[in-house]
Amino acid sequence: MIHTSKPVSVDSDQPDMEQLNPFMIAQAQLDEAAKVLELNPAVHGLLREPLRELHVTLPVRMDDGSTRIFKGFRVQYNDSRGPTKGGIRFHPEETIDTVRALAAWMTWKCAVVDIPLGGGKGGVICDPKQLSKSELERLSRAYIRQVGRLLGPEMDIPAPDVYTTPQIMAWMADEYAMMRGQNEFGVITGKPLALGGSKGREDATARGGMYCIREAARVLGLDTRGATMAIQGFGNAGQFAAKLGEELLGSVVVAVSDSRTGLYNADGLNVRDVIDYKLKNGTLQGYAHAQPITNAELLELEVDILVPSALENVITSENAARIKAKISAELANGPTTPEADQILHRNNVYVIPDFLCNAGGVTVSYFEMIQNSYDRYWSEETVHERLDEKMTAAFHAVHRQAQELQVHNRLAAYCVAVDRVAEAVQLRGWV
Ligand code: GLU
Repeated sequence: MIHTSKPVSVDSDQPDMEQLNPFMIAQAQLDEAAKVLELNPAVHGLLREPLRELHVTLPVRMDDGSTRIFKGFRVQYNDSRGPTKGGIRFHPEETIDTVRALAAWMTWKCAVVDIPLGGGKGGVICDPKQLSKSELERLSRAYIRQVGRLLGPEMDIPAPDVYTTPQIMAWMADEYAMMRGQNEFGVITGKPLALGGSKGREDATARGGMYCIREAARVLGLDTRGATMAIQGFGNAGQFAAKLGEELLGSVVVAVSDSRTGLYNADGLNVRDVIDYKLKNGTLQGYAHAQPITNAELLELEVDILVPSALENVITSENAARIKAKISAELANGPTTPEADQILHRNNVYVIPDFLCNAGGVTVSYFEMIQNSYDRYWSEETVHERLDEKMTAAFHAVHRQAQELQVHNRLAAYCVAVDRVAEAVQLRGWV
């Protein structure tokens, strides 16, 4: 039997058949943009697939003396605009298709903020919550021993993502230095400050998102001061979004959630207290000064600003019509399905699409690479200023494109990004 890879239909008339495979979704989103851009078919075909991917098997010695075998991936999606760049996720439900999708989105992300990098992503199937610190270290080093041969400041540069931290980046940078016999800080970003990290990297994803919300509020004529905000997901991005939502925008955080529970207080949560509780207990469960709600309820709250900050596919055709927020600022990667995008657009929910909204992380990663290559380090104010400049320019390029083409913001962001990548592919003579 011959299998042909057909573009996925995004306007399926069978809502129960909604496509939830993230890579198929990423391809369908690209197909839509290719149509609008009248993209050269060969360029389109090339951009639908990763250029390279590596599947690795990782034997790791556990604390009890046994050896466990883990599976991992690194996908280098497209490097026409520069070396591939993107984080590494440690997650029990990681799949190659999720990593492919995330690598594609990194390609569009670096292009939309116009930094000279391509897109890549890595992942390991594991549950970091079940691993001791020393097991986590041995797993991180095992990953680099296998994938390190493909990495380098001019080739492919990883960073943190879901459940990976500056400490994990430090172990990985060290393992890479051991393999190469020399320090090469620029091979990985999101490192601790003492090992060549950049000031302002830790909160960069959330901060970049706040700059986008500020600009969206301007074009919508909405005052962010006193605006209500609900945050789904309370990892790095979600926690800093809560803090900076108050500090930079003057918004009132009324709800937050993690994988186990949500918290709601119509008068506003005490953000500092909630973050302290989460850091101390590893969960929001049991926090006393708020009403418990589910993740599903949080998404449908009557708030001004919704900030999905966890994982993929939380806003689908099933719940999109019940989203009441004026702005949905996607700090997560892939939180909204293509069907849901159509519904949100019809209902005038202003979506700041993921690869624009969360591009602050990779933008400061790029700043970190520059600082590593010159061995000169910037002040926090300089990082913030340069990040603001990049995010504001990218936001308005996408907003303008959406107005001009009369399309939803994600499609507009695709048009801006894909056009830039297509130009690089063609200038190189690949097509
Ligand atoms: N993992 C982050 C993202 O999805 C940051 C990537 C990076 O800094 O390379 O954008």
